[in-house]
Amino acid sequence: MKNRKIILEESEIPENWYNIIADMPNKPLPPLNPGTMEPIGPEALAPLFPEALIKQEVTADKWVTIPDEVRTMYSIWRPTPMYRAYGLEKALDTPAKIYYKYEGVSPSGSHKPNTAIPQAYYNKQEGVKRITTETGAGQWGSALSFACQHFGLECDVYMVRLSYKDKPYRKMMMNTWGANVYPSPSDRTEAGRKILAEFPDSPGSLGIAISEAVEMAATREDTKYALGSVLNHVKLHQTIIGLEAIKQLEKAGSDMPDIVIAPFGGGSNFAGLSFPFLRLNLEGGKNIRCIASEPSSCPKLTRGVFRYDFGDTAGMTPLLPMYTLGHDFIPAPIHAGGLRYHGAGVIVSQLLKDKLIEAQSHDNLEIFDAGVLFARSEGIIPAPEANHGIATAIKEAKRCKEEGVSKTILFNLCGHGNFDMKAYDDYFSGNIKSHELGQEEIDKSIAKLNTPEIPA
Ligand SMILES: *Cc1c(COP(=O)(O)O)cnc(C)c1O
Repeated sequence: MKNRKIILEESEIPENWYNIIADMPNKPLPPLNPGTMEPIGPEALAPLFPEALIKQEVTADKWVTIPDEVRTMYSIWRPTPMYRAYGLEKALDTPAKIYYKYEGVSPSGSHKPNTAIPQAYYNKQEGVKRITTETGAGQWGSALSFACQHFGLECDVYMVRLSYKDKPYRKMMMNTWGANVYPSPSDRTEAGRKILAEFPDSPGSLGIAISEAVEMAATREDTKYALGSVLNHVKLHQTIIGLEAIKQLEKAGSDMPDIVIAPFGGGSNFAGLSFPFLRLNLEGGKNIRCIASEPSSCPKLTRGVFRYDFGDTAGMTPLLPMYTLGHDFIPAPIHAGGLRYHGAGVIVSQLLKDKLIEAQSHDNLEIFDAGVLFARSEGIIPAPEANHGIATAIKEAKRCKEEGVSKTILFNLCGHGNFDMKAYDDYFSGNIKSHELGQEEIDKSIAKLNTPEIPA
């Protein structure tokens, strides 16, 4: 019998996270104060985040030690399995070798607890009582609820209204772990009330929900804010995925992959899988292609601009140098809620600018074709977000067949879709439509930006 899974022991859970900034040829540009347009220092983040996380946000150290208590919590579901996708390879009749790292085995069903656990841990250490956050598809809210519950912290989640309606079981999951969940835009915050006054039926967006959660944290002494993607420390925590993956490939006696693929929302699971492999490029002269997969209805990497922009809709965050569609861009209400964010994280943006990584976009219909083929050949039902990575993997595997070459492809199956049956139901009843985002819509959103441009 051929080995399908590559499993590590709990004792093999990595002891450090990897910080790619140490190896980047061009370091990320500094965040700017939107009032003065001057670079801001880490102290500006103090009202929102605990000191330990701010330190990690700006550290130049290549390796950051994972606290024992965090590793112990990780051992509930880590190391996660890596699979050889024999079923998918057969279905595609491809000479490519396809592997995937499966992050859906965590309690909340995605990679998000990899950062939720350390974030809750550092907040607890510094005496914080409550954490506020936003959630799109519900994955981040569930992960943080799980983490806060473990460390005895209160958790307030602002959930994008569209998902709140479509994904009631995600909300109940958060409630089960003791969190309070509010549909966003809500009337609890200035930011929410402002949107509701103009658009009473607003389906919400991640940008709006971020504004609400940030406002609540900034105005309360005992409360901090947590972000599930985009920021450097989040990407840092997620590198546990790629660090394990390298150990697993070594254990299987496999060559390092030719292509590493992950879906892309704000960049955390992409960073998590790919950065340790990029290190092999930057440091070891390897030439591994790392591809981020995004929806064609929210194509910041493939069609956005690289310039300073706000991280949220209301413009409350510092200005960040990133690929963006404009901070008040509200993408079509596709089911991959976790990929409906207007911008990309700073590190990933710089890497793309420097052509050290690539990006591809996929249509809404294509990604469900891919996800269903995967479910039928491999068994696991993927999260709609994860389907984007699968679509890229399938495309590259088909290219291998056309060209008659056998490449090794590794992708991140970043979450299961067991709470996303509404999305699959819509697909089967023909209600998922191809969505072409017109250039005018992108141009209009970007033209509204009055934030600093970045000289080429
Ligand atoms: C949150 C989420 C994403 C997108 O966020 P990234 O920070 O880009 O990883 C993708 N897939 C799943 C399953 C998610 O929960």
